[in-house]
Amino acid sequence: MQLNDPTLLRQQAYIDGAWLDADHGETVAVTNPATGERLGTVPKMGTAETRRAIEAANAAWPAWRKKTAKERAAILRKWFDLIMANADDLALLMTTEQGKPLAEAKGEVSYAASFIEWFAEEGKRVHGDTLASPAADRRLLVTKEPIGVCAAITPWNFPLAMITRKVGPALAAGCPMVLKPAEATPFSALALALLAEQAGVPRGVFSVVTGPSKEIGAEMCANPIVRKLTFTGSTAVGRLLMEQCAPTIKKLSLELGGNAPFIVFDDADLDAAVEGAIASKYRNAGQTCVCANRLYVQDGVYEAFAEKLTAAVGKLKVGNGVDAGVTQGPLIDEKAVAKVEEHVADALAKGGRLLLGGHRHALGHSFFEPTVIADVTRDMIVAGEETFGPLAPLFRFKTEEEAVALANDTEFGLAAYFYARDIGRIWRVAEGLESGMVGVNTGLISNEVAPFGGVKQSGLGREGSTYGIEDYLVVKYLCLGGM
Ligand code: ADP
Repeated sequence: MQLNDPTLLRQQAYIDGAWLDADHGETVAVTNPATGERLGTVPKMGTAETRRAIEAANAAWPAWRKKTAKERAAILRKWFDLIMANADDLALLMTTEQGKPLAEAKGEVSYAASFIEWFAEEGKRVHGDTLASPAADRRLLVTKEPIGVCAAITPWNFPLAMITRKVGPALAAGCPMVLKPAEATPFSALALALLAEQAGVPRGVFSVVTGPSKEIGAEMCANPIVRKLTFTGSTAVGRLLMEQCAPTIKKLSLELGGNAPFIVFDDADLDAAVEGAIASKYRNAGQTCVCANRLYVQDGVYEAFAEKLTAAVGKLKVGNGVDAGVTQGPLIDEKAVAKVEEHVADALAKGGRLLLGGHRHALGHSFFEPTVIADVTRDMIVAGEETFGPLAPLFRFKTEEEAVALANDTEFGLAAYFYARDIGRIWRVAEGLESGMVGVNTGLISNEVAPFGGVKQSGLGREGSTYGIEDYLVVKYLCLGGM
């Protein structure tokens, strides 16, 4: 890995403004999923180090909250500028530890940075209310305050953006944050911390603790100093964290699993729908929580769509993300490949028709062929579980009502997509879908100004947008009597 600035590759964790090894000197290895090559190590930290990071955040909180939003914004703006100035290095670091194509990694760096920029500005617009008083001698006011020390646990699929989407609003609102990045992608997180340090984020305001999730997560949940936990990952782990946070009644933001339906109606522009399906399904090799997981295609256009989609998927180029022209990298690990294999085998055993792919890729490691399966039905695993891989299962439906009912037949409710032109149908379906986000005639919906989040068992809270900063604020009511 040839970085312009080799110091961005940090192999120590960042706690209370210091770069540190684990107390007992233990480390965990980080590998490149495209090659199996060992890239380096990070400290294997646990309860004690996490506790110290939390205590440092608590010590840093009073001075950080006392700064004006404008002062905090100036520091965050510097951080944004440094991220953008180091975009090439950050992208290469990300591709090397995570696997996504370099072009996607570059896109993520800008996307990640946009949250820092957006929330730096949004912090200035936090405001309260004055209320009409029911009593003549009283005045009633509502103010907003930073909630306090926050802890974040983030996944490997967006090694930078899932962090900045949390730390941006936290810091802008006046809260310090302790982060545990995913074990597979700590280098992106540590590079981000280095740039935060260079930008002038004071010691203790942002710490990164690396190591096994259970110990670090347990301390984050149990420690009463932590007022809020924000997590992006699976619903199973989200449920566990919620349970662990119950004794201390922490505020929670949870971005959990999805099982996104992608509906193509008879009146859709089929070429646009294919383009949207490719973007939504195969981006990051299918490893995003808003990836189309179930493609419902109306009877009249089913075969035509299947044919066009298969042709387009056939053009995807699988390979090491650093190589030119590659559009699909490896999956994150062996477990991820095994899951896709299981979903494919189950669908084919129950009558699915393989149109493309279906196997591990000849490149070995954790590469998997972009796959399309037709004639998929409700009894197959893919109907109920997130595949998190490059498999597009095509279901068939007849009526609009049936499509909406099928789309909603899941405990998840993160993203949903559909393609149609009829304006009445667009409103009916958009309103009928039980999901936090709906893409209409588009397969890409995420940006920093829009509220990202789910309903049902896809989570709590919203990230990005003006709603995103609310997750880091608490309301205080002031009652002034004796007027
Ligand atoms: P994924 O399947 O995408 O890895 P997970 O929910 O397992 O999703 O992981 C997302 C994040 O949650 C990672 O940072 C992981 O280390 C962390 N995590 C996993 N298990 C636990 C746990 N028991 N306690 C705290 N964090 C956990």
